[in-house]
Amino acid sequence: MGTGNGGTIESLKGLGAKRLELLKKMGIDSIDALLAFYPRQYEDWSRSFTVSDAPLQTPCCVKATLATPVREHRVRKGLTLYKFNATDGKILLKITVFNNKYAVEGLNPGDECLFFGKVTGNFNYREMASPQIEKAQSASIRPIYRQVKGLTSRVIEKAVRQALEQKGDDLNDPLNEQIREEFKLCHKRYALQNIHFPASQEDIAIARKRLVFEELLVLQLGLLQLKGRNRETTAVQIKADYTADFVKTLPFALTGAQKRAIGEAVADMRGQTPMNRLLQGDVGSGKTAVAAALMFNMAKNGYQAAIMAPTEILAEQHYYSLQKMMKNTGLKVMLLTGSTPAAERRKVLQQLKSGEIDLIAGTHALIQKTVEFHDLGLVVTDEQHRFGVAQRSALCNKGKNPHVFVMSATPIPRTLALMIYGDLDLSVLDEMPAGRQKIETYAVGAALRKRAYTYVKKHLNAGRQGYIVCPMVEEGEMELAAAEKFYTHLKSGFFKENTVGLLHGKMKPAQKEQVMREFAAGNIQLLVATTVIEVGIDVPNAVIMVIENAERFGLSQLHQLRGRVGRGKYRSTCILISDAENEEAKQRLQIMRKTTDGFQIADADLKLRGPGDFFGHRQSGLPQLKIADLFDDMDVLRQTRTLASRILKADPHLSDPENSGLKILTDQLFGNDITF
Ligand code: ADP
Ligand code: MG
Repeated sequence: MGTGNGGTIESLKGLGAKRLELLKKMGIDSIDALLAFYPRQYEDWSRSFTVSDAPLQTPCCVKATLATPVREHRVRKGLTLYKFNATDGKILLKITVFNNKYAVEGLNPGDECLFFGKVTGNFNYREMASPQIEKAQSASIRPIYRQVKGLTSRVIEKAVRQALEQKGDDLNDPLNEQIREEFKLCHKRYALQNIHFPASQEDIAIARKRLVFEELLVLQLGLLQLKGRNRETTAVQIKADYTADFVKTLPFALTGAQKRAIGEAVADMRGQTPMNRLLQGDVGSGKTAVAAALMFNMAKNGYQAAIMAPTEILAEQHYYSLQKMMKNTGLKVMLLTGSTPAAERRKVLQQLKSGEIDLIAGTHALIQKTVEFHDLGLVVTDEQHRFGVAQRSALCNKGKNPHVFVMSATPIPRTLALMIYGDLDLSVLDEMPAGRQKIETYAVGAALRKRAYTYVKKHLNAGRQGYIVCPMVEEGEMELAAAEKFYTHLKSGFFKENTVGLLHGKMKPAQKEQVMREFAAGNIQLLVATTVIEVGIDVPNAVIMVIENAERFGLSQLHQLRGRVGRGKYRSTCILISDAENEEAKQRLQIMRKTTDGFQIADADLKLRGPGDFFGHRQSGLPQLKIADLFDDMDVLRQTRTLASRILKADPHLSDPENSGLKILTDQLFGNDITF
């Protein structure tokens, strides 16, 4: 970048080498980045309570007058307490400060102060331990920043204050005056000043509105530019519709929704512009068959088709189901993952290049440089939210503008899906294959574990299969140890007459595959697993699932897990074991009990956890947003989308100097993604 970052943070005073290092670790490497490091929350010192009115146990600001001098008590070496009383004239506030002499310096009886912290107490008096203390006249709203060890919020606050002063008036606004007026937005300078150092709650709202708008506009500019690239040339056009032939290979009839989705996508692929379609369907709604129908169509028309999955297990499973469906069609199906042996890999690469392979299933291995296709006409990605925008594009670049079909089991409201996935068209599988049974779900305490296991055993002995999902532990070494211990415990204990298998994230892909094969073949009756079974595994004979410590999982995750059963003609059961006492956890488990509708569950999940978590950890494949919230700011998302297309229509590559500020921001937000 070099220019346009507003200067270096080295120029700020009071930051030693260590703190500079820490800032950089947090991604703050320029004045601009520092200014865009928005507070996580605020302490409102401008609204204070009297001692009598202060709420208990929640952080708040209390105004009171010192009634006694500060007394020092040396309890032992390294522990000194400073104690004094303050009052609002009605009731006493007993304050204790630990070790921090500096905090109480210069405080005298009669001084009116603000104390920020948690109040505890009883009928006679209130107490506060180590509050933050300010003389009353300096009351304001104070920013709280995400802090790390060695870098407190207060230090960051000071740095930001300097940065704002330094930047001062020469802060150019990437949004021009016309836009600001049209959407009633404040100047960027005002917004930055007030997001960090607001005088009132209203100021925060005004600043936030402005910054959210800018961030979402930049997001839309990026997405639409990515999109625009795909539209520039003509795709492979298929001549004939072979869906009827494909249907003959299936052991079941397609649902109405599946037929509709296939019809929509085939129509796209016969058109002149590349398809860009998102298929949304709850777990078990039969997305694979839709993908297979499209891949079959593409291959029959003489082009190659690829399906990319986020995990090896899932890629393998696609490979097996494709192979089964294509058995008597004369089409060649292959698999390419990170663990494909070198010799096999060479063969696959060569055959992909020569066009001998018609259909390929794989993982990220498909987007490596060495992979070349003969004529790739269709790219399918499964479980789209695990892939970044960049990865999807990378696979597309392997062909001359192939059609793109994205599948997702994450239910996202339609309006939102359309906006965040650029102008993807949307198909929805809103109908389950016939004969699906509702999965009976129970939430029980650990006291009933034995009974749950007995019920599992009954099913196993009747010829069915089941899963037990281990308590969730931290990923890494612990995961392995905990899963293995739990597995051994079950295998040599309660289920010693049954065949029990183990599946966890630390296993080598080949081992996982082996276990999965055995389970699918029915050689393993009971699969003890971590969340690796969350996506995709499909064994219709598996009819019962027990989830240990169910309260540790998110609702959507529980829903995905539960979707592994109830996939065949048998009635299925899911037992959630949890001793959780807290209300929210109980509520979540009740929702699981009441509904099996993925959309309803996602809604409830949103309400209970908040959208931040829902999309958390870059799950959406979108760049990380700093201030906007895709759900709460849906209206702004809509506005910025219209505006972004207007801007790009006039200036497709943002090369006009007028738009240079927006261009810099777009490049920053998308990193290299936007410039393949
Ligand atoms: P998901 O949408 O979760 O990826 P799958 O594609 O794995 O679902 O399909 C789930 C199961 O339903 C598979 O066993 C599949 O063979 C079966 N299936 C798909 N479509 C139908 C249908 N129309 N009728 C009956 N079974 C179907
Ligand atoms: Mg699937």
